[in-house]
Amino acid sequence: MPTTILQANVIERALNEAARPFFSHTSRDIDPTKFKKSDVPHWEGGAISWEELVEIEPDLRWMLQAIKLIRRPKAPASFCANRIWYCCFKPRLLQLVGHSCRRKNSALRSSAAYDTAYQKLYNALPDCRNCGC
Ligand SMILES: [Zn+2]
Repeated sequence: MPTTILQANVIERALNEAARPFFSHTSRDIDPTKFKKSDVPHWEGGAISWEELVEIEPDLRWMLQAIKLIRRPKAPASFCANRIWYCCFKPRLLQLVGHSCRRKNSALRSSAAYDTAYQKLYNALPDCRNCGC
């Protein structure tokens, strides 16, 4: 039976409750040094929409808002979307979704979540101009 977002949330809460005596972190954060990836069941739920993602990880919404504030300088000044993406946004994205996600939520940890978030956020950046990409 495919995993649902609801199930993933319930499992995350249960795992966090079980771990609480060992961690001084908030219930949502986990200690990456003690975190076993095998603790979290594999996501079997298929594609995840952007709307579903921001529901379970609101920081993604803040990332999108930050990206939408980025303006290209007036032409012909060069602008590189990739430089901004790889230095400023992708490292944070890796903490929020995909296999390096810091939460025990199987939906968030899935490549489905990573793909959806990556496309949504990267596509919101202005296009490169005169940068050689
Ligand atoms: Zn570029």
